[in-house]
Amino acid sequence: MHTQDGKIFVNRTLDLSSIKAVGFDLDHTLVRYRRENFEALAFKKTLEKFIEAGYPEELLSLKFDPTFVIRGLLVDPVRGNILKADRYKYVKIAFHGKTPLSREERHSIYNNGTLKISNFISVDTFFALSESQLFIELVDYMDKHPGKIQKSYNEVYKELRYFIDTSHKDGSIKSQVYKSPDTYLIRDPDLPLTLRRMIDSGKKLFLLTNSEWTYTDFMLSFALNDHLDEFPSWKDYFSYIMVGSGKPDFFTNRQPFFEVMTEASEPGLLKMFSGTLEQGKVYLGGNATYFQELTGLKGDEILYVGDHIFGDIINSKGLFNWRTMLIVEELEEELKKLEQIKDDLHQVLELISKREALDENIQSLRNQLQFILKQTTSTKKSEKTSKMEEEQDKLYDKLALQESILDQLNDSIDRSIKERENMFHPVWGELMKAGLEKSKFAQQVKEYSCLYTSKVTNFRYYSPFKKFISLYDTLPHEVLLIKASTPI
Ligand SMILES: [Mg+2]
Repeated sequence: MHTQDGKIFVNRTLDLSSIKAVGFDLDHTLVRYRRENFEALAFKKTLEKFIEAGYPEELLSLKFDPTFVIRGLLVDPVRGNILKADRYKYVKIAFHGKTPLSREERHSIYNNGTLKISNFISVDTFFALSESQLFIELVDYMDKHPGKIQKSYNEVYKELRYFIDTSHKDGSIKSQVYKSPDTYLIRDPDLPLTLRRMIDSGKKLFLLTNSEWTYTDFMLSFALNDHLDEFPSWKDYFSYIMVGSGKPDFFTNRQPFFEVMTEASEPGLLKMFSGTLEQGKVYLGGNATYFQELTGLKGDEILYVGDHIFGDIINSKGLFNWRTMLIVEELEEELKKLEQIKDDLHQVLELISKREALDENIQSLRNQLQFILKQTTSTKKSEKTSKMEEEQDKLYDKLALQESILDQLNDSIDRSIKERENMFHPVWGELMKAGLEKSKFAQQVKEYSCLYTSKVTNFRYYSPFKKFISLYDTLPHEVLLIKASTPI
């Protein structure tokens, strides 16, 4: 039996027996990276491009810190800031470069209703982690060495985007992966059998990746070749292979398919496409409308598995009604931690309900006091009884006592939440939460993915005909009932 971290979670009921085709993204979905190594490589290669473009050589001493940036954050390139927001887009934590913003600074910039945080850049792919890490390092450098880089934060950010794209495109990063795949890629031994079980159950598999042909061929040869006798080549697993698909444009535009010449004297050469999509052949570009026409698949017969909310999930589900599964790699670690602290969460919730009761008490004391004060002011001085004054004093004392208990309670709630968050990440807390609210990232996961899990091979724990049922589309009043019967 699998543990929590092997679970597939359900946002929207999905019956696998009605799924005819399962599509996969490649990077961080079918093949996972050794992220610390890969991001450090991207950081270094991009930094080298800065130096080539004439930036100060001492930038080479900037170090990649794999622990600071997490997915789900937002970059504000104009101000040089990085933020975490909850699902109401309320900014809960903010840094300028590597310096935390005070509560007041944070509120005056972000939470007074004048800025739209939707204009900021979401750190929603793993590839974006090294990019944002490098950005905050550069902002920090610019602040500490004024005048050395005579550009705005926003200009530097634009150049960073360009340099990082170039490093991915010109082979600076890929050549290192080709040289030493085990340093950068994870070989998941369960992948071949997981895919084979789906094929045996009558489902067609397809690959839909933005990566280009040569890199795709390398990555999947590494992950799948020569594992199973019936599938000697990775291409044998997939009914349709689509590379360079330019998602999300694959779902929004009408770009044509091309056939990629894989055996030709010049591999990678493109040929105009006509006819049908054939197994064993490789296609580039294309679009979802044409794909469905050519394969006869309806939107809800397709399950697409990817790790990028924006590129893989939002449009495939929203525009084509594909069913979706989001890979959230971080869940593996976060679930282990949640398991460790589940009792703490109950404690925090108990403290919060105590605070509510106390709050009500204080309100009622204030009402009583107001009533007595009204009485005493309307009563003539001579008629004021010592009893009235005594009662008034008593109420004041009671109120003061209750208010000091409330202060202590607030402190311990804040402390417990902070401790809880520290368990996950000392700066940003839990990926799916901002304080006790759902994070913006969590809100997107809930809204756009039918299923989510930490890795593709978690499918191996479930029947290929499994009906995943969503039980937890709950309103606050229903949570009480669930809590009574299930541990959190
Ligand atoms: Mg991906």
